[in-house]
Amino acid sequence: MAEPSRNRDLDDAIASLRRFLRSRWEERDDVLFRTTAPLPVVPPAVARPGLRTPAPPQGVLRAAAPIPRPAYPAPALRTAMPLPRPMTARPGGGRPAVERHESGILNPNGSDRGKALLELYGRIKGCESCGLCKGRQHFVFGTGHSDARIVFVGEAPGEQEDKQGLPFVGAAGRLLNELLAGIGVSRDDVFICNVIKCRPPGNRKPELPEIEACELHLYEQLRIIAPRILVALGTFAAQSLLQTAQPIGRLRGRWLRWKDSDLLATYHPSAGLRAGSFKKVIEEDFQLLEKRLAKEKAGPA
Ligand code: SF4
Repeated sequence: MAEPSRNRDLDDAIASLRRFLRSRWEERDDVLFRTTAPLPVVPPAVARPGLRTPAPPQGVLRAAAPIPRPAYPAPALRTAMPLPRPMTARPGGGRPAVERHESGILNPNGSDRGKALLELYGRIKGCESCGLCKGRQHFVFGTGHSDARIVFVGEAPGEQEDKQGLPFVGAAGRLLNELLAGIGVSRDDVFICNVIKCRPPGNRKPELPEIEACELHLYEQLRIIAPRILVALGTFAAQSLLQTAQPIGRLRGRWLRWKDSDLLATYHPSAGLRAGSFKKVIEEDFQLLEKRLAKEKAGPA
């Protein structure tokens, strides 16, 4: 009849051992719980102003190493297609007829870059890599010439852009057209896109997982177009491209470098719509662009 008591003793001993092991586990006792396979490590999310940093998955440690950026190699396209490239304007006036694809790409079949952009559009237009795909009316790839020397990058589609499937078609887009015309550049001669291709609900700020998913599309666009000049329109685009938390006021007004492109950052045209003082500053930055284009046109001194 001593059997039940022995079993109880055994149960008590097992329960105490479990409690001890659990407490050591919770205190991360690496002597007791060291294994040959280390805990999986994920790189930290880059904290950006105004953006929520998601919590790491449970049981996963954060590493000190920065997020590995996707490679931006010097692709075969770059060597196969040296600059300068043709613009749509022709000496003597008049513009050649250019094909405008449903994506917004001009002249998609006119060059290797156009074909590569078209192929990319076909590959990503149904993208479901983040939750923004659920609320979109249109995927907004970008618009402009496939052989553009200048690429303008904004934040994300707004209401009008989502409706029409084209970037910068609302009031801010009209101001951008005006700014371009002011320095003698046609919208059709440049390429215009956003970091984020689907409209965030209610025009809220894009969140970090959305940015990380979508900027891969932007990098691929930039790899194909290989622009000589990048213009970041607004805080979000400038900070995303330059991977910095510096305010736009410190980044604007000077030439910076992004990969193989010269980068000019300025305020988003929507800031220019809100306040005349911002519009004036944007115009000053566009004058830097104008001077740079004039210098290129004049050729080496
Ligand atoms: S926002 Fe970008 S990553 Fe997200 S679904 Fe749209 S295209 Fe894909």
